[in-house]
Amino acid sequence: MSVQPAYRGRFAPSPTGPLHFGSLVAAVGSYADALAHQGSWLLRIEDVDEGRRVKGAADSILRTLETLGFQWQGEVLHQSRRKARYQEILDRLLARGLAYPCGCTRREVEAVGRRGAEGWIYPGTCRQGMPPGRRERAVRLRVPAATVRFVDRLFGAQCQELEREVGDFVIRRADGFFAYQLAVVVDDLDQGVTDVVRGADLLHSTPRQIHLQRLLGAPTPRYLHLPLVLDENGRKLSKRDLAHPLDPGRPLEALLAAWRFLGQPPPEEPMKDVKTFWAWAALNWNPQRIRREGAR
Ligand code: GLU
Repeated sequence: MSVQPAYRGRFAPSPTGPLHFGSLVAAVGSYADALAHQGSWLLRIEDVDEGRRVKGAADSILRTLETLGFQWQGEVLHQSRRKARYQEILDRLLARGLAYPCGCTRREVEAVGRRGAEGWIYPGTCRQGMPPGRRERAVRLRVPAATVRFVDRLFGAQCQELEREVGDFVIRRADGFFAYQLAVVVDDLDQGVTDVVRGADLLHSTPRQIHLQRLLGAPTPRYLHLPLVLDENGRKLSKRDLAHPLDPGRPLEALLAAWRFLGQPPPEEPMKDVKTFWAWAALNWNPQRIRREGAR
């Protein structure tokens, strides 16, 4: 009989700006879900893309989370300090023939590739080896002509034909940085994450991550993707446009706004402080109330 491991959740912000309402929703959803399962909750700074890192953003995010009463377990993991580990996994995938060096430029991919839901589908030019005279730029993961299926706790049954819809995807980029898709899988594996609760913009990435998990013999976590907070133009809020930063001077208001956005009825009694809020939230979190399209 197999024993279910204890719940381990995480929040994994990219330090591209101060915490805004959109990432607060992801933080509140994942923390409340962990508390409701009496699980642990980890924090990871996803600074693998060092070009997008904004100075001071990681510290500012941590400070805001502290003010809002979030409590994470252990040390904060920084992706920028884990390159040796990512390299080890990359080498293993290359040695097994599951990944391959690619010499194509973006322009070349766009000239012959098809357009997918998220970027270009790689036409497979370097799959059987780089054409002579080419210099290695990126490393890609070979994907099979198979369908990846999983059940999201909010969005239900999902399936994606990796080869047709995504194509062989980059795991080490031409600028030398490891790709998010590789880093997130290795980190979730190493941190023993059982439950991923994050924004629905990553729903489309999940089959790639599940495929990588299977290649590495890693367990697949449960997934709960949360509705996205959109701006006036229907676009996802981004930390980079500095839109809607949180007011850390009003922590309870911020928490309650995120709570309501997630379809959770507010407490009947006014809350004294953030600590009281979280104790109450742990008992009252009900993911079945979340609406896919989010709150108005
Ligand atoms: N770093 C991503 C973000 O800030 C989240 C990635 C994840 O939760 O897997 O949107």
